[in-house]
Amino acid sequence: MDGATVDTTPAVLILLGPPGAGKGTQARMLEETFGLVQLSTGDLLRAAVAAGTEAGKQAKAVMEAGDLVSDEIVIAILRDRLGDEDVSRGVILDGFPRTTVQAEALDGLLAETGQKIDAAISLEVEDDAMIIRISGRYTCGGCGEGYHDTFKVPATTGTCDKCGSTQMNRRADDNPATVSQRLEAYHAQTAPLIAYYEGKGVLRTVDAMGEIPEIAGALANIVRGAR
Ligand SMILES: [Zn+2]
Repeated sequence: MDGATVDTTPAVLILLGPPGAGKGTQARMLEETFGLVQLSTGDLLRAAVAAGTEAGKQAKAVMEAGDLVSDEIVIAILRDRLGDEDVSRGVILDGFPRTTVQAEALDGLLAETGQKIDAAISLEVEDDAMIIRISGRYTCGGCGEGYHDTFKVPATTGTCDKCGSTQMNRRADDNPATVSQRLEAYHAQTAPLIAYYEGKGVLRTVDAMGEIPEIAGALANIVRGAR
């Protein structure tokens, strides 16, 4: 990239990562560091419906009928949103695109304003380690303190260090089988997208198994390098 020119077009980043990879935390750090705005599909839809835009009205009708909002409507909502003043620094897309058809539609939308995807960042995890990490979590029912079977065991088994409560809560869907299924579903859904962005030369991968500041640093370097 030519260091003498400053790219003033809004950054367009896509953040990919399985549940538990810390995507939300990292997106917030990118928002703070670079003035970007995270756009999740759910938030986009809700905001458009609430604002009563043309696309928002269409989305509302479809959702009220119990149907899935079409790619065309999501793209129309995104087109409106990308024109807003608060996203002039750029956006982090979360949850869209999910398919290569959507990715192509997004490329088409960005091309209308001379934009492109700056980077599709994939938070990479080791599945076995993720299963241990997620399925080992539990929290104190008394004070909400978080514990872990492997990484943070209370001094007395089953008793909270902070408040002494013996009521420990574990999320039913955090068991190893369910976490494993979630990861498999994520990989199956994301593999085509990863291949798509790799083909476009904008795929960047980050090891998401490390410490949060370390991951944030790697992401920041990618964003700087992509501009
Ligand atoms: Zn407690």
